[in-house]
Amino acid sequence: MSGNGEVKVRAAVSRGVGMATSIKELLLAAPGADEVRVAIDACAVCHSDLMFLDGGWSIDFPVVLGHEAAGRVVELGEGVDNVAAGDRVVVSLIRACGNCRACQRGHDVACTGDLALLHRSPLSDLDGEPVTHGLGTAAFAEQVVVHCSQVAAFPDTVPPEAAALLGCGVLTGVGAVTNTAQVGAEDAVVVIGCGGVGLSVIQGARLAGADPIIAVDPLPTKQEAALGFGATHATGPDGIAELLTKATGGRLADHVFVTTAAPGAFAGAADQLDRMGSLVLVGIPAEGVKINIDPGLLAVANQRILGSKMGTARLAEDVPRLVDQYLAGLLDLDSMVTSTHSLDDIDTAFAEARSGEAIRTVVVFDHSGHTGDSTR
Ligand SMILES: [Zn+2]
Ligand SMILES: [Zn+2]
Repeated sequence: MSGNGEVKVRAAVSRGVGMATSIKELLLAAPGADEVRVAIDACAVCHSDLMFLDGGWSIDFPVVLGHEAAGRVVELGEGVDNVAAGDRVVVSLIRACGNCRACQRGHDVACTGDLALLHRSPLSDLDGEPVTHGLGTAAFAEQVVVHCSQVAAFPDTVPPEAAALLGCGVLTGVGAVTNTAQVGAEDAVVVIGCGGVGLSVIQGARLAGADPIIAVDPLPTKQEAALGFGATHATGPDGIAELLTKATGGRLADHVFVTTAAPGAFAGAADQLDRMGSLVLVGIPAEGVKINIDPGLLAVANQRILGSKMGTARLAEDVPRLVDQYLAGLLDLDSMVTSTHSLDDIDTAFAEARSGEAIRTVVVFDHSGHTGDSTR
């Protein structure tokens, strides 16, 4: 640590669309007021990371990505009281000032607070040039500095690879069911896309007592995984209407969740809705994608379109509930971790996530200096 409290950390630096990742030493500033420094144990690859790497969404390069993480608090800035040094914490991109209108109403994901980290990146290269703090998190690095609202403590009984998934994918999927759509028992649910978020929607729907739960994915391996996580039926995109009619006795769906960013997944999704049904948009496609909706049909059928950012989650409430469900054996996180990789092997983790066959690939950090590669 140097005089102004900054530390050197190894980090995965992405330099441009389609470019290989460089593992470099960067400088990480000390946490300011209401900020914490966390040593990262695990950070999963989310499809949002790939959207930036592949040019679907724009970002300022060079950047350190990674926003679905777990680690240990090592330093507290002034005024932090929700966690203590040594606490194991989930690290998320959800940041809530606690004071703005949205935060006062409990809508953490819509916070408009003017936080210091919105104006400065805590990361710079060894020459002092700034490096983008990807999604306000930058957890493909040995340590991060984030706002204290971005962390929530969890007990030692949860392995870090599992806890990491609570930072984005599982929080987003289960939250879309419980917080955004408020799915009830025996609701008919269709889930389009069975990646990490889609499988989490399926788990959330199962926990809510939904029936049937129809999983839709072009990949047979994903359909099989969906059945393992609680879907009652699974099909490719062409089979939705027929399967839904059969499974509901002619009714349609009370909720259709679109969990993928693939533009084709949105077309026709509203056609699967029953009267009073809700279309829940969870996946975020590349900039510029449009969908056609007939407003008259929507009004007559009393249907709703709901956007769901990060499962409308509140970290301080949702993480403890998901941890309890995991520890009670109700929420399966372990089977969602397809493989783990060391930071040096992060491009393999990205390639596996991009292939669509993996559910979650996780970068693990062994602070004792051993390699972390393994495939399950
Ligand atoms: Zn994510
Ligand atoms: Zn706020």
